[in-house]
Order: sequence, then structure tokens, then C-alpha cells
Amino acid sequence: MFNLIPQIKPLLLRAILHFSFFIVFYIFLPIYLKANAINFSFWHLFFFYVTNTAILGYFFRTFLRESCAANYRKEQIEERLNLLRNQISLESGINTSLKTKIMRYQQLKNIVEDINKTLDLNSVAEGLVSVAFSLIGNNKGVCALYLIDERTQRLVLYKSKKQDKDIVIKAKEGDIFDLWVLRHAQPLLIEDIKKDFRFDPERLKKEELRPFLSLISSCLLSDHKFIGILRLDNPIPQFYSQDDLRFLVKICELGAVALDNSELFEKTQELAIHDSLTSFFNKGYFIERLKEEMSRALRRETQLSVLMIDIDFFKKYNDKFGHIAGDIVLKKLSGIICEYLKDTRSIICRFGGEEFCVALINLDKKRALELAGGLCRRIAQEKLILRRQETNITVSIGVAAFPLDAADPVEVIQRADKALYAAKNRGRNQVCCA
Ligand code: GH3
Ligand code: MG
Ligand code: MG
Repeated sequence: MFNLIPQIKPLLLRAILHFSFFIVFYIFLPIYLKANAINFSFWHLFFFYVTNTAILGYFFRTFLRESCAANYRKEQIEERLNLLRNQISLESGINTSLKTKIMRYQQLKNIVEDINKTLDLNSVAEGLVSVAFSLIGNNKGVCALYLIDERTQRLVLYKSKKQDKDIVIKAKEGDIFDLWVLRHAQPLLIEDIKKDFRFDPERLKKEELRPFLSLISSCLLSDHKFIGILRLDNPIPQFYSQDDLRFLVKICELGAVALDNSELFEKTQELAIHDSLTSFFNKGYFIERLKEEMSRALRRETQLSVLMIDIDFFKKYNDKFGHIAGDIVLKKLSGIICEYLKDTRSIICRFGGEEFCVALINLDKKRALELAGGLCRRIAQEKLILRRQETNITVSIGVAAFPLDAADPVEVIQRADKALYAAKNRGRNQVCCA
């Protein structure tokens, strides 16, 4: 705007000059002549006025031409101004998007640092879902983290964040979009589900979908191993951009490593307290748990029973069928015990070689004896095929109760062990109590 002032200034000066000329010659001069009684002839005056009109006409034409030129220059300048304004708005847009990006990556950096501080799988998953939901999803729609179950090799919904708490994620094992991401090992951006040719609309209709139209999804890969999928969806079409997808991929790249580490840590912790052959707890962890349960039983004034189980003549099985077959028997027996005690509150441990110890919480000695008798019979009934021969195993069980028979974990185990010896001495395949 201020650039126009130098252009207009000469025009204004010229207009003022012309106006003064007009005033002097057409108003003051006749007044002066009249006042001084100077008379001119008609032709003098005629000639004077015609000459002046011609001069005035010339000035006026020049003024018009120059004002047209000035207008043209003004339009050119305004056009340039508009172009500059457009460029400014474009660059300020780029500037804002760059600022947003910097902010996002800064927040991501902080969160990744936080995630890497912990090895707890739950906290890592919570951190990842929160960052994706707030930074990409603007806390709108749904963000879901699926992890691969190593046993079934299927996706399992592990953590989610929802705009509305009433929204239910029915696809607990992922939907067709998650399976697409897994199959193609590629990130996926869908602007409008209804218009995406990659997905069969008939199949979409059959799927019980939550009301969402746009989604972004990326797989979590660590060392070429699938860990899971992180996805966001929203009922508004075109809610997510390519930029959002790129950001999600970055979150997944960083998150996958943290998730893999925490899964590994969790597995190591599990292995540390479990026996690898039977998956029962090991002796050390069992005694710790037994201590806790005993204090609880004391506080609540309830009883707790312990079963000591030992396979009868197991050495003979090993000698006859071999050690590997013996291991199969141990695995089979652990399955039977687990199945039989599934309705009780129990802690089962592999106490040593072919001995198992069970803590039955909230169960008195009488009921524990009955349960042990049933278990003994159930094991004896089970037919085993070892080296194409049908056989079966029997067990002897000793029962002791807390606080009835003993005051601490070691003592109660000793009492159950003593009862087990009694059962062995009485001919095996039976239950004895302390
Ligand atoms: P009983 O208890 O009836 O007195 O006789 P037993 O032959 O079972 O005697 P004992 O309980 O002392 O035997 C322990 C045997 O269990 C020794 C070993 O051959 C076997 N054993 C211990 N741990 C394992 C294991 O992990 N795998 C296999 N296959 N055998 C084991
Ligand atoms: Mg034995
Ligand atoms: Mg033994």
C-alpha cells in the first residue's frame, strides 16, 4: 500500500498546478481586469479564452493519460501484492506444518525415551497407544494395539483408547484391514472405506464394523519378526493424511523394539518362576507364594491344605520306556492335575523330579483329602500309550493342612511329605494325611 504513494505524488502535484492555473486565468484574471477597468475587445478576449481552453484541454488530456498509466501501474502493483500475499500464506502454511512436525517429533522423542525406561509390557503398550491416539488421532475415534499371540500366531487386542467409552471393539483378533496389513507387511491408509477398491464391499457389509470410515494402520516389526499392529480409525472420512501415516510408521518402528524387549523380559521372568517341562511353578516361587497365602489365611482365619504327589515306581517306567517317554508321562500327568484342579484356587509346583506339590487355598483338610482321593483315582484311570504299549501310572499323595498340622510353609510341606511316605509304605496309589 505504501509503495503506491511515490507513484501518486507527481499526479497530485500536477492536478494542483492545473487547478491553480484554472483559478488564476478564469476567475482572478477577469476579476482583476474588471476591477482595474481594463477593457479588452471581444476578439482579444475570445482569442485569450480559446488559447487558454486549448492549453487547459492539453493539460486535461495529459492528466487523463497519466492517470490511466498510474491506474495500470497500480493494478500491476496490486497483482504483485496479491501474488506475494499468496506466497506468504503458502509459506506460513508450510511453516505451521513444519512447526507441528517438529512438535510431534519432539513429543515422540520424549515418549520413546519414557517407553525405553521401562521393561513392563503393559506400560510400554499404554505409552504407545497414548502417543498415537493424542498426536495422530487428536483424541478422536479409536486407537488399538494388537499383539501376536506366539502360541496361536493370531492377533489379540492388547490395548485400546477410545474417544467414547461406550464404543466396543468387537474384532478382538483384528478385522480384514488388520489382516491386510499383516499379509502385505505394509502400512495402510484408507480415506473412505466405502470408496476403497481394495476391500470387497460385500465382505465389509458382513463384518460387524464399528462406525468408522477412515483408518491408518501399521505393523510392528522387530528384527523381521511381527510383534503386532497399531491402528487408528475414525467415523469421519479423510480424517488421516499421508503425513499421519508416516508418523504412525515412525511410532511403530520405535515402539516395536520397546515392545519386543519388554515381551522378552516378561518371558524371562516367566521362565524364572516356571518349570519348562510341565509349566508349573518352580519350588522357590511356590514357597514364596505359600508364605503369602498362609499370612492371608491367618488374617482371614481360613484353612489351607497342601498335597505332595509322587509317581509310583517311576524309575521302572524310565528303565522300561526310556527317559524321553518318562518326560512325556510327566507332561501328561501335569495336564491331568491341571484339568482336575481347574475349579479350585490352587498353586501347583513341580517340587522335584517326579514330585508335585499343590497348595489348595481356602480348602480344609477333609475336603482336601476327598479331592486328593479323586485325583488319585483319575490318574490311575488314564490310559497311556508308550512305545505302542498301553499302560497307566499311579501316584501316592500326602496331605497336610495349615494351620491345623503346621505353623509355617516348610513345616507343612514336611508334614505332607511324611504323609506321602506313609502312603508309599501302605502300598502306593493312595492318599494319606498328616
Ligand atoms: P516310588 O516313588 O514309588 O518309591 O518309586 P520311584 O521309582 O518313583 O522312586 P523315586 O521317586 O525315588 O524315583 C525318582 C525317579 O524319577 C528317578 C528318575 O529316574 C525319575 N525322574 C526324576 N526326574 C525326572 C525327569 O525329569 N524325567 C524323567 N524321565 N525321569 C525323571
Ligand atoms: Mg516316585
Ligand atoms: Mg520321588
